[in-house]
Amino acid sequence: MTNLLVNMRDQQFLLFEQLGIEKLFAKEKYKDFSKDDVLMLLNEAEKMAVNVILPTNVIGDREGCTFKDGKVTVPAVFHDAYQKFVEAGWLCPTRSVDVGGQGMPLLMSNACSELFVAANYPFTMYPGLTNGAAALIENFGTEEQKNKYMVKMYAGQWGGTMCLTEPGAGSDVGALKTTAKRLPDGTFSITGTKCFISSGDHDLTENIIHPVLARIEGDAPGTAGISIFIVPKYRVNDDGTLAGSNDVQTGNIEHKMGIHGNATCTLNFGDNGSCIGELLGKECEGLKVMFQLMNEARIEVGYQALGTASACLERSVQYAKERIQSAPVWEMKNPDAKAVSIIQHPDVRRDLLWMKSRVEAMRAILYYSSYCLDLAESTESKPEHEKWKGMAELLIPVCKAWVSDNAMIVCSKAMDVHGGYGFCAEYPVEQYLRDCKITTIYEGTNGIQSLDLVGRKLGSKKGANVMNLVGEIMATIGKAKASASMKAYAAALEEACNAIIDLTMTFGQLGKSGGFLLPILNASPFMDAFGDLVAGNILMQAALIAEEKLTGIYEAKSADTIGKQRALVHDNPDVAFYAGKVSSAKFFANEALTTVKARCEAIKFGDKSTLEIADESFAS
Ligand SMILES: Cc1cc2nc3c(=O)[nH]c(=O)nc-3n(C[C@H](O)[C@H](O)[C@H](O)COP(=O)(O)OP(=O)(O)OC[C@H]3O[C@@H](n4cnc5c(N)ncnc54)[C@H](O)[C@@H]3O)c2cc1C
Repeated sequence: MTNLLVNMRDQQFLLFEQLGIEKLFAKEKYKDFSKDDVLMLLNEAEKMAVNVILPTNVIGDREGCTFKDGKVTVPAVFHDAYQKFVEAGWLCPTRSVDVGGQGMPLLMSNACSELFVAANYPFTMYPGLTNGAAALIENFGTEEQKNKYMVKMYAGQWGGTMCLTEPGAGSDVGALKTTAKRLPDGTFSITGTKCFISSGDHDLTENIIHPVLARIEGDAPGTAGISIFIVPKYRVNDDGTLAGSNDVQTGNIEHKMGIHGNATCTLNFGDNGSCIGELLGKECEGLKVMFQLMNEARIEVGYQALGTASACLERSVQYAKERIQSAPVWEMKNPDAKAVSIIQHPDVRRDLLWMKSRVEAMRAILYYSSYCLDLAESTESKPEHEKWKGMAELLIPVCKAWVSDNAMIVCSKAMDVHGGYGFCAEYPVEQYLRDCKITTIYEGTNGIQSLDLVGRKLGSKKGANVMNLVGEIMATIGKAKASASMKAYAAALEEACNAIIDLTMTFGQLGKSGGFLLPILNASPFMDAFGDLVAGNILMQAALIAEEKLTGIYEAKSADTIGKQRALVHDNPDVAFYAGKVSSAKFFANEALTTVKARCEAIKFGDKSTLEIADESFAS
């Protein structure tokens, strides 16, 4: 039975059949985990998602957060859900047991978290940001700071945020104006305004700890002079008790298109000159510290996008099976033909398969990237560490941008499948679409992610990460060419791969002679094409595994004709699932991979109209 959130069969396929999470359990770091643990945890996560978090989703959206008399209140139903979520140990499962976590691989934790975000991701942002902020203190803080702040944050007693953005410093973090003035006791007086701070203020926890980017007076302009500070909402005494206000005032909360349940705040630090911050890590290394949180956060945003898209797909399939409308097209000349469920109409099927293939690709890319980080963290070998870390770093902008761009289209198509009803609030896809949109914007807009891909990630380690990825794709192509049914689709993957290699080399050559214009102008279309290649590869890997499984089942069931095999689809859930994986890969290869070469050629063509058009010519 579907939980209407996430296809858990697909999760298990990825974890056990495609990636082989058990390989992690052979490593010293994860030796205490087993396949049974994964299954048990997914089961628990599903119960938490369906019974505790999902019931808060619509109420959270409709009630939203309120700001009155300087205080922010979250939807009332969030309180009980938050307590249950924290008590069940879901706030920081990947952190070590010593600090209150469970030492779980990221892949395992993220698979569970996919269920939570699909149920209500604005809610999950409260514990999610707390976990990330506490990890900064764990990794860069002094023992004193860890005892003072981190312990209570990992326990869910205090909240956490991530304070970068200012009115004049969004994409350009280096333009920030928040200042830190040295005080005689070694602490700093913080002054400035941060805007759009998620979970910035709320009544879920008794204190909130803000990691704040600011410039110490006299330090260099730009990103080089940025430091990071621990700034509590309420000051903390040495014995851990609260010592009153720290002059952090909430200016307002935003009234947004979506994620109404999460308080997006303007925070004013030091309006009265008495906001105290403690330096976290070294002076002028603020961005380096924050980047640790941002890499995790970018993958998390990908999961948020996946969660909304996944729930939209599940809902749309259910709706398309139930909604009766129009006779089938092959009966158009029969006035007595009966209307059928809309899933019978080819155009609806096309939308559904478009959505299914994208959602599966998003899930696979995100799981694979999480897995790469686990492999990097659990190996003793330096070259292995570098290889997996490099692969994850190459894919992180794809996890954020390609995934969220595609998730938005999935949510939009979900609305199309629902027709007019989808546009109305009584069906959940309308809220999912609204909630999904911010994932293309925050944590670095998708435009900025694309620039990161072409400007830093492609050339990183002299292209070694890209070459590792290409090696993987070549291996898939080799296997697919040996399969009678996948051969034609392998050709599309090969053509797409060659086109991306060629364009990447062109960018590299141009870069050597200072010719950055082409890559910068085309960073976003490159991200689309590159993401499609990564997606096409990972879907084809899945299809090859699925084909093998199907062959085994057909042999065991003596299904030696197409007719008998088709019949099995209706009786055997495994056959239906594996056949669906093959369909996803074929559809995606035909629909997306076949266009990659043309898109790369279009980029190489070098059209500069985007630059040539005068500002005055864009609009009246
Ligand atoms: C709901 C919500 C929650 C948020 N949560 C947080 C949070 O918790 N913490 C936090 O610090 N921030 C948060 N943000 C801020 C968010 O990260 C920024 O909005 C985002 O980084 C973009 O900055 P901006 O809004 O100033 O847009 P701008 O930087 O003004 O960008 C506008 C457009 O210009 C483009 N652009 C800008 N510079 C360049 C460039 N150099 N090259 C090419 N294109 C460029 C962008 O891609 C974008 O399309 C949140 C925002 C929202 C709306």
